[in-house]
Amino acid sequence: MSSLFFTEEHELFRASIQDFLKQEVLPYTNDWEEEGQIDRTVMKKMGEMGFLGLDTPEQYGGMGTDFMYTCVLLEEIGKSGALGFATMVASHVYLAMNYLNKGGSEALKQKYLVPSASGDLIGALAMTEPFAGSDLKNIRTTAVKEGDYYIVNGSKTFITNAHYGDYIVAAVKTETGISLLVIDNEMEGVTTSKLDKMGLRSSDTAEISFDNVKVPVENLLGEEGKGFYYMMESLQTERLTVSQISIGAMQCAYDLTLQYISEREAFGRSINKFQVLRHKVADIATEIEAWKQFVYVTSARFAQGDFVVKECSMLKLKTSDLLNDVVYDCLQMFGGYGFMEEYPIARLYRDVRVIPIFAGTSEIMKEIIAKIEIEKVEYKPAYK
Ligand SMILES: Cc1cc2nc3c(=O)[nH]c(=O)nc-3n(C[C@H](O)[C@H](O)[C@H](O)COP(=O)(O)OP(=O)(O)OC[C@H]3O[C@@H](n4cnc5c(N)ncnc54)[C@H](O)[C@@H]3O)c2cc1C
Repeated sequence: MSSLFFTEEHELFRASIQDFLKQEVLPYTNDWEEEGQIDRTVMKKMGEMGFLGLDTPEQYGGMGTDFMYTCVLLEEIGKSGALGFATMVASHVYLAMNYLNKGGSEALKQKYLVPSASGDLIGALAMTEPFAGSDLKNIRTTAVKEGDYYIVNGSKTFITNAHYGDYIVAAVKTETGISLLVIDNEMEGVTTSKLDKMGLRSSDTAEISFDNVKVPVENLLGEEGKGFYYMMESLQTERLTVSQISIGAMQCAYDLTLQYISEREAFGRSINKFQVLRHKVADIATEIEAWKQFVYVTSARFAQGDFVVKECSMLKLKTSDLLNDVVYDCLQMFGGYGFMEEYPIARLYRDVRVIPIFAGTSEIMKEIIAKIEIEKVEYKPAYK
């Protein structure tokens, strides 16, 4: 069937990512969940396939493809149900690498972006602090310039890829305002500790402490003092990519459920013959389709360069809520089996709870949408 959004090449790419997930990810997902760590050789394999460099120009080892390839990649990873893996990939590519792509000097791109596209290095983005999450302007980590270095002190929390990763794009307070620095995990004074969490257990989430870390001034991303504006721009990519994963994950829960209710019997017939469940299925299918189309159209506008802040906020708000609702309703249709670890729907239930929280909470999304609707605030991209 022809698509308004995806070409034949996009669909061939979709088939190759589905194949990759079947071979290299799904057989290991349960082990990674139990170990609380994803074997990083899978990232190297992702790099070899070009999956980590879709948005990176070819001169830096990427594919330089249009943004609809990202939509395909993340929707498919979401659809696989491996949401810990999805979080690792998205944080590396669409958080850390995105800042290098947009604001990195030639030297930073050579040192960090090229090995990130190949999967040799894994990056994290550290904005959140113990006392500042939604209120990003009030971060306390400082970077004081001394000669050719910034001396960084402070702490970050809830940072994906920070413990097992290699570098951190960190938001810090410099004399001129918030700035972004690339900090190696290996630098003296950087310590990380893993956090224990209710879901996404294979994904690495950590606290970071910076104790008099000497960061070369050339590790500054973009201009000093403009970090807040860079973050406000890049958060749109982050939110849209979360929505792409979310529509995939809804489809995963839905597909698992359709299969289950066709096999499970009660009162002498398969439970998909009960009207109350059939109507639930109809509702879920309709909601998924509607939000999928909104994700596609916004991704297509994003691909052509539109700065779609309102749409990215609306999608982050609604797809993350809908994903939670869909997984809740699907689990219900599994009955007691849905509560058993043996069924992937149980893991999905734990994993999706965080989605209305990270990348900007639902309340913050509503604040942004309300400012645009009521005060007619206009957001402009920070990078030229
Ligand atoms: C698994 C996981 C992975 C994460 N990965 C990363 C990462 O890689 N990098 C990173 O930087 N961060 C990451 N985060 C942090 C995440 O982005 C923050 O947790 C989130 O932005 C909320 O910040 P907070 O936890 O400090 O909550 P708070 O900001 O303290 O908010 C608490 C509550 O108050 C509400 N609230 C706050 N301000 C307002 C307001 N103005 N109006 C209405 N309600 C408000 C919030 O919506 C929320 O319900 C991750 C978090 C988790 C759980």
